[in-house]
Amino acid sequence: MQTRVAPYGAAGWNEKARIVEELFSKKSGPPFLYNDVLFIVPSSRLRRTYGRLFLDIMERTSRSHALVQPEVQTLHLFLQRLSAKAGGPALIDENSRLVLLEGIVKSCITGKGAFGNTPDILAPSLSAAVADMIEELSASGISSEQLTGAAAMSEVSDKPQVKLLMEAYGAYEHILAARGLADPAGMLAHLADQFDPSWLSSYSTIIIDGLHDASELQVRVLRKIAGHHDCTFLVDAPSPDSIRNAGDYHPLRLVKELLARLGLMVGEAAASSATDDSYLADALFSAGSFDDAAKKAPSSFRKDLRLLSAITMREEVSFIAGEVKRSLLAGMPPDSILVAFPSLDEYGPLAEELFTDFGIPYNRALGRQLSTSPVTTAVVSLLSSCREDFSGPSLLRIFSSPFLKFGEAPSLAPALARLMAERRITGGRHKLLTALKRSSPEAAGPDVLTEPLGDLFAALEPFSAKDPASLTVWMDRLSSLLSWSGLSGRVTLIKGPLNRNLQAYKKLAGTLASLRQAGNLFPEYSYTFSEWLFLLKKTFMHARFQVPPDDEGGVQILGMEESIGYAWQEIYLGGLMDGAFPRRLPQNIFLPEATLEALGVRTLENARLNAASHFYRLLLSAPRVTLTWPENVGDKPIVPSPFLAELTPLRKAGVITEASNVQFSLKVGDSRSIPELAKALSLAGDIAGLEKVLDSDLEGMAGISAGLDYKPSETPGTLGTRERTEFSVTELDDYLKCPYDYYVKRLLRISPLEEVSEDISALDRGSKAHAILRRFYEEWKGPVTAGNRDKARELLAAFADREFGYEADTFRNRREKDLFVTVMAERFLDAEAVLWRQGFRPAYLEKKIESFKLALTDGTIVEIHGKIDRIDVDDNGNFIIVDYKTGGYPLPLMTAEQEIFQLPVYAVMALQTLTDKDPVLRRSIGLAYYDLAGKNKGPTRDVVLYNKEALVDQPSTKPKASPRSAADFEAILTMSIDSARRAVEGIVAGDFPSTPQDENRCRYCPNEMMCGKQDS
Ligand code: SF4
Repeated sequence: MQTRVAPYGAAGWNEKARIVEELFSKKSGPPFLYNDVLFIVPSSRLRRTYGRLFLDIMERTSRSHALVQPEVQTLHLFLQRLSAKAGGPALIDENSRLVLLEGIVKSCITGKGAFGNTPDILAPSLSAAVADMIEELSASGISSEQLTGAAAMSEVSDKPQVKLLMEAYGAYEHILAARGLADPAGMLAHLADQFDPSWLSSYSTIIIDGLHDASELQVRVLRKIAGHHDCTFLVDAPSPDSIRNAGDYHPLRLVKELLARLGLMVGEAAASSATDDSYLADALFSAGSFDDAAKKAPSSFRKDLRLLSAITMREEVSFIAGEVKRSLLAGMPPDSILVAFPSLDEYGPLAEELFTDFGIPYNRALGRQLSTSPVTTAVVSLLSSCREDFSGPSLLRIFSSPFLKFGEAPSLAPALARLMAERRITGGRHKLLTALKRSSPEAAGPDVLTEPLGDLFAALEPFSAKDPASLTVWMDRLSSLLSWSGLSGRVTLIKGPLNRNLQAYKKLAGTLASLRQAGNLFPEYSYTFSEWLFLLKKTFMHARFQVPPDDEGGVQILGMEESIGYAWQEIYLGGLMDGAFPRRLPQNIFLPEATLEALGVRTLENARLNAASHFYRLLLSAPRVTLTWPENVGDKPIVPSPFLAELTPLRKAGVITEASNVQFSLKVGDSRSIPELAKALSLAGDIAGLEKVLDSDLEGMAGISAGLDYKPSETPGTLGTRERTEFSVTELDDYLKCPYDYYVKRLLRISPLEEVSEDISALDRGSKAHAILRRFYEEWKGPVTAGNRDKARELLAAFADREFGYEADTFRNRREKDLFVTVMAERFLDAEAVLWRQGFRPAYLEKKIESFKLALTDGTIVEIHGKIDRIDVDDNGNFIIVDYKTGGYPLPLMTAEQEIFQLPVYAVMALQTLTDKDPVLRRSIGLAYYDLAGKNKGPTRDVVLYNKEALVDQPSTKPKASPRSAADFEAILTMSIDSARRAVEGIVAGDFPSTPQDENRCRYCPNEMMCGKQDS
């Protein structure tokens, strides 16, 4: 086999076109049969690009399209085809492999001390990690026997996770062999052993293009292919020397090593790089100093290189879309522009949205996660609803999905929302049915809900079974559910080959069939409903579906792998963030990197070099290259990709243009899309001559005109604070923390959109902890002691099971519950044991106080409401206000002025309103937070302020600031009421300045831009 080195970009692509022309020229007239030529490429996209190149060349050289094209195969599919010829064991599909490994891992860890007795919690994530590790080991040709040998030589052989890996790998190999199956690595190993050169005899020429790395087993097979008498290996690199001289950290090290492993010499340069590219090739990832590299810049450097950072991802993609549009208007052919992102799944939807807004024709690399399709989410909603005991949001999702049978009755979702609001329920099968039974027909109108809800509950009944069942049983149940749901009929109502939902449905059907097949293959493994649903969701996340293109024209929005090949004129490489490029891989939990490296497994290093080689290639692949990264994602600042440091010599030589803080302009004249124009016009007001534009029949103009003509109905002049006479303690606390923030949050009711997630929020976690602890003391009577602590723990765990059981079964939610049971509940019990010994008992739980009267300075009386988590009382009527906290809380200050506001106000309110109750409250002597999560690293029961004359030493994080004389303590209570009065008067007066109690608060505040704090 010979090696030819082709430079990146147009020079290299032209050279490849020349090689094809040379091949075609061997036939001077028809018939043009070239199927004796084989091209092997790494991606389907390059395969299609070659297909187009053949037609172009044919048309140019022979003015004909009548040819039998050379065969172009991706390496992966070609090896699969060869292995079919080699006979041997059948290839196990990806889903069956996951099912097998999950079953093996679960049986390995069940009952083992190191992993506890809860394999249903650990198995899914552990099995995924084991599956990845086994895949890496087997792809590198390491058998379980070799692994055991290597582990025995290291110091980690007796670690539980290493034993688990060895045991699982051994069982995996054994089961595959016993069933006559092979995984992809086994298939390659068999192929390498049985390879017969005669399989290639129908090819006169073989060309391998675009490979820059291969696994050990692929290399073994490629070596056999290289034995063909006319085989050429095309390598993309600036020059043969750049490969030969590649050091350990250079991106071309992978190619250099691949050639060595294939037993090939570096070979001849097929064409040489331009001067600018030769300079760049030497300067980037250079082993020498940046200064030396900078000095070698040619004075005539003409390449247009730019590095820009935008304030957000949206601004970043808007900037790219704007630049692309400008180039297109200047006459640049769309398909010569590449827009690439290291994580296309993250950027793809945003890029599609903005490119559509900008009117840019584009082609996005195909393949979308099946789990993101609305067709799949409709199926998952049905199942999740059953697990969440038919919560309100899950039912609304089902009733409003256009893909389920209820899609024909659009009135259902509003009727359900109305019922829940009126009856103040948040869902739940029993509660809903009871509410429906009790609804009076006159008040509620016709009952449209009972029948569909009953129908839904009956259809989901099989999924409420508690017992584990085999995968096949669960898949049968799902198949009946899908027939009932009408999914297939509703999806097929939407016509057209490019219908995304139809394609997603087809993939969904294929994925479910493959899971059923896995169930048939391994009937011995069983799953609870939650485990099965987790497996289903995980499979949907891995599966990808494609929308078949009728045309791949337009600006190319691609991932890294797909961007190989073709002569790009402009390249935009976005999303260059640390952690995403190179992608931060999880550390493997099984073996030290040194042990893996000795075995030839270099996952982390290879991932870094792979990303580096794409970065290097793209910078050298077009005359105009723009690199971008967002400065923030959500509210988090971003660190740019470490590869950008490689641009230092270019910076020093002044051959790269840089800018930061890029954001789109809101000037009407700068608008590049209809949404930008609409935003600009909404700010600009009336503009002379605009009617002409708005009256044109351009798409989107009618919408803008209607928007500008819209006159909002009369709104009340004030937010009505002046008339208010009732306030809650929490809102007063918010006002004191920052009046402006109070105004935005409580009066305008604006809050940042929350990420849609099945994970419970910090707020939900707090509510659950509160509910569990309240229920504990409703049931538990008497002190907590060492003797009954196990019982108390069991009771808390049972309440936790129930509270957290309503939530989705996600990894984080399991962790939240685990955190409650193992940390918060234990800390709580520690505190309770001490409390009872001090003569206090929890007397009031979640006590509502609704009639506390507060006189304002002008004599007006207002009412303050509040709910106190707990009041602990002793036999003399002395009491301590208690507040449970799962997050942070204010600590006491040495001064009389305190940031702690709610607790002292509660103390005064309780004293005034609970004097005639049993037990009676006579004197407030302490204020305590329960630091359930241990945020302050002090005691759980943190008595933040107390009367030291009435209480002996109390547990406290601030032992100097917490104890106060009786007079000081009383003064703090009085001052808190003064603060409450000040807050009420501020709200009533409509006084909302941006004066936070603590300036640190502004650092994480979403209002920073609005309140003017950012500019101060
Ligand atoms: S940024 Fe600071 S001053 Fe502005 S609203 Fe937020 S907390 Fe208040």
